[in-house]
Parts: sequence; structure tokens; C-alpha cells
Amino acid sequence: MTVRAVQVIAEADVIAYHSARHGRSIARSIAAEHLRPDHIEEALVYPVTTETTDHPGGYRGAIDEFYEQAAARLAAHLDAGRTVAVLAEGDPLFYGSYMHMHKRLADRYPTEVIPGVTSVSAAAARLGTPLAEAEEVLTILPGTLPEEELTARLAGTDAAVVMKLGRTFPTVRRAFERSGRLPEAHFVERATMAGERTAALADVDADSVPYFSLAVLPSRIGNPQPPVESGGVVVVGTGPAGPLWLTPETRGALAAATDLVGYTTYLDRVPVRPGQRRHGSDNKVEAERAEFALDLALRGHRVAVVSGGDPGVFAMATAVLEAASQAEYADVPVRVLPGVTAANAAAARAGAPLGHDYAALSLSDRLKPWEVIAERLHAAASADLVLALYNPGSRSRTWQVGKARELLLEHRAPDTPVVLARDIGGPEESVRVVRLADLDPAAVDMRTLLIVGSSQTRTVRRGDGGEEVVWTPRRYPEE
Ligand code: SAH
Repeated sequence: MTVRAVQVIAEADVIAYHSARHGRSIARSIAAEHLRPDHIEEALVYPVTTETTDHPGGYRGAIDEFYEQAAARLAAHLDAGRTVAVLAEGDPLFYGSYMHMHKRLADRYPTEVIPGVTSVSAAAARLGTPLAEAEEVLTILPGTLPEEELTARLAGTDAAVVMKLGRTFPTVRRAFERSGRLPEAHFVERATMAGERTAALADVDADSVPYFSLAVLPSRIGNPQPPVESGGVVVVGTGPAGPLWLTPETRGALAAATDLVGYTTYLDRVPVRPGQRRHGSDNKVEAERAEFALDLALRGHRVAVVSGGDPGVFAMATAVLEAASQAEYADVPVRVLPGVTAANAAAARAGAPLGHDYAALSLSDRLKPWEVIAERLHAAASADLVLALYNPGSRSRTWQVGKARELLLEHRAPDTPVVLARDIGGPEESVRVVRLADLDPAAVDMRTLLIVGSSQTRTVRRGDGGEEVVWTPRRYPEE
């Protein structure tokens, strides 16, 4: 309890606290030594917890009615000129019952909220572990969330505290397991109170877990990571631009890696972490980079190979799997995590041009002969597929887009819409829609993706002078 809380209790006429039907209040027991016989006590007893109720409004109805009545009881004291101290365990505005009184009374009566020490701080102190350091993100989660949601949040954060255990424990435990964070997790029951217990979360028996307990995932920086039995490689994609399109799973894998390997442009998108080694390279030596990553993993490192977009779309995943198929790497675990690919991000910005069947092609003839590219363009165009064209051009590859345009015009009308999506999600983002006949190779660079419509793709300008929207209908006309 803070000094200010003790002062306020001493000055109050009325002491109020919430309790369940059994009448015991943890807040009251904590403050007990400061209560006097001349204090008027108001026990605000919940009519229901999660049991069924015969209230016509169900659980919600019963609870709302209870809060109204409780607020009215406090208001009666306040109207009579008495000062009321409402006791709240931990901090009053942090998942506490007090806030329901606050919302009903604070605009009518002078109110002071005394901040308190939360169970989060108490648990970290009892574990004696740093909770969050430097740029680390601490996530507070109610254990009542669905398992999938908990899993994603635990995978994507540095540190976490999961509140409201008890019945939720098996779900919470599974979420820790599925996010790969169970070995780091601690359990704390009744922190700083009688009956306190701390344990490794993995060792806790579900039947022994009360509501008054929480799970703590401490700082990664401040605590040694649990040793991995052997190293491994995870191949990830950052999405086409910033963190908005980074999946929680990938964010977690990047944070957990001891080593990052990748093209420097993509590595630069990943925040720097103390203790993590970064091995940047240029864009040309994929096979060497893959073997380098596998060699590190053989020596017990946790390696993340970083691509832009999705790692399996014209990126590092195949190079890693190809290298990993050599006998010497047979025992290195390799995982590929999906990412948002440029075609999806570009399509979303333009509307829904990929709403029907489409083909993705790379126009780069560095890794395959132009004849193959030309054949595939013919085939896809004659099948009336929408085309997502990656790597359309660069400073050194300038003629491919012009050639592709001539080829496509053999199958498609000159006014077929083409989306020129440049630096999507980045600071120089631009989206333009042009006619296929007007597609200018000079307007295309390494950071551009082209989407060429099918015979069905439509454009419309919505509103007055609004942006042009492109979409491909899902229904195809019958012959
Ligand atoms: N693995 C990546 C693709 C790598 S190939 C992915 O899944 O997106 C590189 C090509 O992707 C670029 O030449 C460009 O055509 C496209 N690209 C990647 N990010 C882009 C972005 N933010 N905006 C537009 N095009 C992008």
C-alpha cells in the first residue's frame, strides 16, 4: 500500500470494497490494519460471478444492476457529506471493479484516484527478473482471450504478463506452448501475500491454479534465453514494407534469432537487438547465403534468413531448402514462415484486381532465359489470367517491360488496365493505373510491381475526382 492510500483511509468516513458472495475481500484484508471501529464499512457484494442467473438481462443485466445499486449506495454517503474511500486491490484503474464506480460517480463528486502497485510489478519483483528493458515491448493479456489470440500475441511480443488465470489456465498454457514461449514462462500466485507461490509455468498443475495468479514472460534482454538443444534455420519475410505487414509469428522469430542473415535492404527493416548478430550481404549470392545460414545452424545458432515480402515468392526459401537438401545439412531443422507478398499489398491498394484466377511471374532473366519468360507470358495471356509481374525492371534491365507489353498486346485489348504499384507501404508509395498500350518501361524500377488485368478486369472512378479503383469480377461470363 502506498503512503497516500494509508492517509486517505485515515481521513475517510466510509470504507467501501467489492467482494464475492462469500464476503471476503482481498482489498479489505490488505488494508485491515488501517481500518478503525468508527469507519462505516460498505461491502459491495457481487450477486453473481460466472454462475447462471435468473436476471431477465442475464449475467450482463445482473451485473449492470449491481453496479447501479452500488454506485447509489456510495452516492448516498457522498450526498450526506461523508468521504468515501473505495479499496481496490492492486491499482484501481487496472482491470479493477472500482472503475465501474468511477464511471458512474467521478463526474458528479470530487474524486481522487490513488495509483497502486499492480500485481504485474509485484510478480516481477518476486521473480527477481527484469520485466522490460530498452526497446522491448511488454504486453498485458487477459487469460480469458481465445487461445489463437493469446498465441499470436505471445509469439509477437518481447515480454508479457497474462492476468486472470484459474479456469483459463489450460488455454493459456497451450498458447505459451504453441507460441514457443513456454520454456521462458513463469507462474506467480498471490504475489507478496500469504500463500505466495512461484514456479516455472511448465511445471504447474492446472488443478492447482487460482484466479489470483498470473503468468510472466520476462525481458529477453535481461534474462538468459533457455538453451536450444540444437540450432535451426527459420526463413521469414518482412512483408513488402514496414511493421504493419509483419506477421506476429515472423516478428517473434526475428526476436528469438541469435543471427540474422539476408540482403542488407531487408535486414535494415528489422530492429536492432542487443546480442543479435547481423550478417548482411548483397542481393546476388543466394546459394552462398543459404549455406552460410545452415553452417551457423550446425554450430548451434538460431538463424533467421530474412527476405522481403513472402520468403517463398521469388526469394530465399527455395535457396535455403535447395542447400539444405545436401547430406551435410540433413539434420538442420528448417522452417519457412509465410509473409505478405508484394502482389497482395499492391492489389489491395488498387482495389481487387487479383479477385479471380491470376498468375505470378518474375520478369527477371537473371535466373531463367528470356525465351521461357516470353513463353509463359504468352500462355498466361492466352488463358486470360490476370498477371502479377515481379521484378519488371531495374537500372540494368530496361527492355523487358516493353517486350512484355508487345507480347501481351497480341492477346489483350490496348485499354486493358495495368496497375503500376511502386514502393507499396514505403515512403515513396505510388499507385497508378494506365492502359496496357500506354505502359512506359521508363516508369518501372526495382521497387515496382505490375498487375495486368484480364479481359474482365474493370476500373471505375468513384465519387467526384476520386481515385481509380480496379477489380476483377469473380464471375466469368459463359461462352
Ligand atoms: N519475396 C518478395 C518478392 C521478391 S522479388 C515478395 O513476396 O514480395 C522483388 C520484387 O518484388 C520487386 O522487384 C517488386 O516487383 C516486388 N516488390 C517487393 N516489395 C514491393 C513493394 N513494397 N512495392 C512494390 N513492389 C514490391
